[in-house]
Amino acid sequence: MNNKKITDKKIIKLEELTWKKIDELDRNKTIFFLPISPLEEHGPHLPVGTDYLTIKDVTFETVKILNKKNPELTYVVIPPIPLGYCKFNTEFPGSISVSGKTVRDVVYSVGSFLGNHKFKYMVICTFHLAVAHLRGIYSAMNKLESKFGLKCCEPWGPYYYKKEIQNKEPKLGFDTTKEVHGGFRETSLMKYQYPYLVDESYKNLQSIYRDVFSPRVLGKSFKEIGLKDGYIGSPSKADVDYGRWFFNEIVNTFVDSTLKLYSGKELPELPKNVKFAMKALFWQ
Ligand SMILES: [Zn+2]
Repeated sequence: MNNKKITDKKIIKLEELTWKKIDELDRNKTIFFLPISPLEEHGPHLPVGTDYLTIKDVTFETVKILNKKNPELTYVVIPPIPLGYCKFNTEFPGSISVSGKTVRDVVYSVGSFLGNHKFKYMVICTFHLAVAHLRGIYSAMNKLESKFGLKCCEPWGPYYYKKEIQNKEPKLGFDTTKEVHGGFRETSLMKYQYPYLVDESYKNLQSIYRDVFSPRVLGKSFKEIGLKDGYIGSPSKADVDYGRWFFNEIVNTFVDSTLKLYSGKELPELPKNVKFAMKALFWQ
């Protein structure tokens, strides 16, 4: 292939290619990445782009590592889409929620371009894991696999919901299982990635916990379950070293799943309870 950019192994962005260059890509050796996570409030201390910025950075870092690790393949990043389902916290300004159906349609439309042109691999990158958002992604993936034989994966849902993080993270001396949203983990992550975007007030925020999977809170908004500041967990414990570890752990998970997808190895799946919750859900 005489495309200098491609042989240079710079990160290839779809929006920078002509249709001709896209058409020249080797169907058997090109993997596309679709980053998609919404703008959503993350407490009074973190930017609404916490999930969006994270998934964007994770995707580019994943591709950087893959370019070194497995340079015979070509990796193309589709422009990150700031979209997702987060209706439960739209009472806060800055949360933009679309329906799970819209998520499905967007992912399916992007995948259809790949399928129609005989491309074979797509990694769907989300850091946001609301069940309705995942349902949109997974139903698009199923449809793309059956219609085009497009091989897809979504790496973060299985890792997160199988609680891999609790097994792997450095010992911290406090219970991290209740860190759900804008808490210790995400505040640490943002302190590492974007310290200038973390409001100093995080140091004085009280720990607040809620079981968001309890049937009692199902279908209720954050404010209805008493989350008046929009976070769940303990942001004040945030730690930049943990943030670094966490960021790299997310990237490693994506690298690993991408290579498994390409080599046809078995990919981690969502646990049964999440699959069940996705099925039980009405489109919303
Ligand atoms: Zn988040």
